[in-house]
Amino acid sequence: MKRLISYYGPDSRIAEAVISLLFPRRCPVCERIVTPKDAYICPDCAKKLSFVKAPVCMKCGKEIGDGREYCQDCMRHPRTFERGIALLNYNEKASRSVSRIKYGGRREYLDYYGKAMAERLGSAIRRMKAQTFVPVPVHPARLRERGFNQAAELAARLGELLSLPVDNGLLIRAKKTARQKDLNPAQRLANLEQAFSVPERRKKEGKLPESVILVDDIYTTGSTIEACTRALKAAGVKRVYFVSICIGSER
Ligand SMILES: [Zn+2]
Ligand SMILES: [Zn+2]
Repeated sequence: MKRLISYYGPDSRIAEAVISLLFPRRCPVCERIVTPKDAYICPDCAKKLSFVKAPVCMKCGKEIGDGREYCQDCMRHPRTFERGIALLNYNEKASRSVSRIKYGGRREYLDYYGKAMAERLGSAIRRMKAQTFVPVPVHPARLRERGFNQAAELAARLGELLSLPVDNGLLIRAKKTARQKDLNPAQRLANLEQAFSVPERRKKEGKLPESVILVDDIYTTGSTIEACTRALKAAGVKRVYFVSICIGSER
């Protein structure tokens, strides 16, 4: 689609109009064609999503019930990232929608999530005062299977909407890990510790950013973000934040 727009040159509005006629936008929740035409999601479907509301965990940004500062996961497990925020509670609708992006190739749904995150979380993201977004990488073999990294696609949209650069090469995933969903939190972290690293070339070059925002689609136990943070901090990054589309809730 991008190629088509650049083919039409500077007057990309014509190309966009043609594209929206040929491929009308589909709703990330019900997958039907969205009305009104310029919307990114059906108004009724937006109501089925559960947006994260205060009070939230001071560390991971997960909704928590009472006056506690931290959620059970953040109390129980060491956290080396500064803090994070997410758009949605991980309910059945969100889970299905994100699966369709990852396993069904519906990367255009990220247009909605990127926009919603920029609108609702934009000021909190700016307050992090980070220099760049860093997508959580997928293993090259999974990248070949899927054709794209959903976190990188989301980071690109956020970067454009919030005018922040995206550093796709700062973090790499070397080891192919077992499927995380089959493991408990301790096993997850052990499984992931060795998986992420900053390339030697980047370390030698120096000039690493001091402060970054990791981008991922789902935050559950926090082990992926924690493993990425450890790799970044071991290389010299000082502050690590994260944003994600969904986060598991305690309630
Ligand atoms: Zn819908
Ligand atoms: Zn937490």
